[in-house]
Amino acid sequence: AGVLVGSMAACSTERDAGTGSTDGAGGAEDTMVGIAMPTKSLERWNRDGAHLEGLLQSAGYETSLQYADNKVDQQITQLENMINQGADILVIASIDGTALAPTLEQAADAGITVIAYDRLINDTPNVDYYATFDNYGVGKMQGEFIVEALDLENAAGPFNLEPFAGSPDDNNAKFFFAGAWDILLPYVESGKLVVPSGKSPASNDDWQSIGVQGWSSDTAQGEMENRLNSFYAAGAKVDVVLSPNDSLALGIAQALEGNGYAPGEGYPILTGQDADQANVLNMIAGKQSMSVWKDTRTLGDKVAVMVQQIVDGDTVEVNDEETYDNGEKVVPTYLLPPQVITPENVEILVDSGFYGAGDLGL
Ligand code: BGC
Repeated sequence: AGVLVGSMAACSTERDAGTGSTDGAGGAEDTMVGIAMPTKSLERWNRDGAHLEGLLQSAGYETSLQYADNKVDQQITQLENMINQGADILVIASIDGTALAPTLEQAADAGITVIAYDRLINDTPNVDYYATFDNYGVGKMQGEFIVEALDLENAAGPFNLEPFAGSPDDNNAKFFFAGAWDILLPYVESGKLVVPSGKSPASNDDWQSIGVQGWSSDTAQGEMENRLNSFYAAGAKVDVVLSPNDSLALGIAQALEGNGYAPGEGYPILTGQDADQANVLNMIAGKQSMSVWKDTRTLGDKVAVMVQQIVDGDTVEVNDEETYDNGEKVVPTYLLPPQVITPENVEILVDSGFYGAGDLGL
C-alpha cells in the first residue's frame, strides 16, 4: 500500500481505496488505515481507538493510531504524517470540525478515502463517509428524561434549570443541544422552567454562547460555581442541570457538592452522555441522574465494516443521506442508536460486557 494515484481524488464516494495502491492486491494486508483520535483524556476515546485498532489489525490491516491531546495543530500534523506514510483510508474523530479542509485536500490528492468518526468534518468535499450515533437523538433523550423526571406536563413548577452545551468547535455539540432544547425550550417559554443565570439560548442557533470549550470538566465546574455564587446566593435551589456529556457532568457534580448539595432529596437532576466509569459510579452514588450510553464498540464494528466495504470496492452501507450537510455536501452517514442509562439499569453495562461488575463496585 502507499503508492497512490492522484486522479483518484476526482472519483465518486464509492471509489476503492484498495485499488489506489499500485501493488494491485488491494486486500487488508495491502491497506494502511490511519486512525486519528482527539484525546486520551476522556475515557471513551481510549476505548474507541483501542477497539477499532484491534478489529482492523486482526483483519490483517496495517494501522496507525494517534491521539492529539485535544490540540488541533497536533492532529493536523498526525494526519499529514499518515498521508505521507501512504495511508489508504483515514478514520478521523476531529477536534475542530472546521479546521481540516486543507489537510483533507492533501488526502484527496493522494486518493485516500476519509471516514469521519463520531464527529462530522465540515467545509470540505473530501470526507466520504460519516459514522456516528444519532446525535440529535442523544439530546432528545436528555430533554425527555428531564420532562419525565420533573413531570413537567403536570407539575406546576416553576423549576430552576441551568443549561450547558458542549465544545463550540465540535459539530456534535450543536446536535446534542438542538435535540434537548427542542424538548425543553417550550417549557422555558411557558415559564415552567426558569433559568436564573439567564444563560438560556433564545434559539438552538445560540448554543455556542453556553458551550464549554474542549468539553473540559474543570471549565464546567468553574462555570457552575459562578452560576451558583452569582444567582443562587439568596437561597434559591437548582432543580435541574442539562449537561450534554459526562465530562461536563463530572465538573458540575463537583460544583454542586462544593456548594452543599448532597445526594438525595433536593439534589438536582443532572444529565450526561457516554456512561464513563466515573459517571456511572456517580449515578450509583446519587450524584448524576442519567447518562446516554453510546456503545462505542458498535461504532468501531461499523467503521471496520465500512473499511472492508471500501477495500472490497463494495457499496458502503449507510442509513442517513439527508441530515449531515457539512457545508459542502451531504455526507453519507451511518447512525447508531444511543440508550438511556439510569441508576436503575446500570447492569445493562455489565451484562453487555462494557464494564465488569467490579468496575462499578457491583
Ligand atoms: C462525543 C461525545 C463526547 C464528547 C467529548 C463528542 O463529540 O460524541 O461522546 O462526550 O465529544 O469528548
